[in-house]
Amino acid sequence: MKIQLAYKLPKTLLNKGSGFLGGYTHTLNPYTGCTFACSYCYVRQMPVSLFRKEDWGSWVDVKKGASGILAKEMQRARKKGKVTIFMSSSTDPYQPVEAQEQITRSLLETMLLYPPDFVLVQTRSPLVTRDIDILHQLGERVRVSMTVETDQDDVRKHFTPSAPPIAGRLHALKQLRDAGIPTQVAIAPVLPSSEQFATTLRPLVQRVCIDDYFMGDGSEGKRTRRLGIENLYQEIEMQHWYQPDAYQTVVERMRARFSENEIYISQAGFEP
Ligand code: SF4
Repeated sequence: MKIQLAYKLPKTLLNKGSGFLGGYTHTLNPYTGCTFACSYCYVRQMPVSLFRKEDWGSWVDVKKGASGILAKEMQRARKKGKVTIFMSSSTDPYQPVEAQEQITRSLLETMLLYPPDFVLVQTRSPLVTRDIDILHQLGERVRVSMTVETDQDDVRKHFTPSAPPIAGRLHALKQLRDAGIPTQVAIAPVLPSSEQFATTLRPLVQRVCIDDYFMGDGSEGKRTRRLGIENLYQEIEMQHWYQPDAYQTVVERMRARFSENEIYISQAGFEP
């Protein structure tokens, strides 16, 4: 698919944390739009996508000059108190365009100069390992949350054909672990997975966050239902995984390999 790239000069970058992310003072999106184009992406149902003619996943707006704006906003925000940032709530900060544009990298560099109390980097892209040098300098102020919804790449391909393969994400988690970067795996949203999943993850992380559409899409699964996601489960005869209690299967499997205090459910897993 051809991607429409546009360059925008934003007036502001930091948004107030609210709703599911109400535990954060701010959210931060280096881009508008996301070419990973996940079928279940709840942003498809938000104004940023609904008011565009083009399909979600076919366009990206690059926020030029972002680091300078963030530097000013960070200085102001820190005067008011604690600053905790969720990056990102409606895009993936390491989607393919980041390899050239490096907006996310520039924002992390700004955070070295004006450190937040905490920043959670939410991604499903191995490109995050490019920035291990900066993440390392942020120390305990940062946590990388890597989405790994399933251990089955054929399932991943069915739901998110444009997102990075699972093997690459697991390798990235290993690199982050070896570099001593605080990390977690976000099994979010829960997709059909195997019994081996917990065994695969055990050596890689000490923190597992499990979330699904019914708890985590901000509308008890209604947004996801409007996207017709159930059909995708039917196509692979996995309807039993599209149930509000299906996540319990994953929780039980994780409990066999992880201790109770290493497993987080829904919102608790994304808190600062
Ligand atoms: S990576 Fe995140 S923001 Fe991008 S399409 Fe997938 S769910 Fe949406």
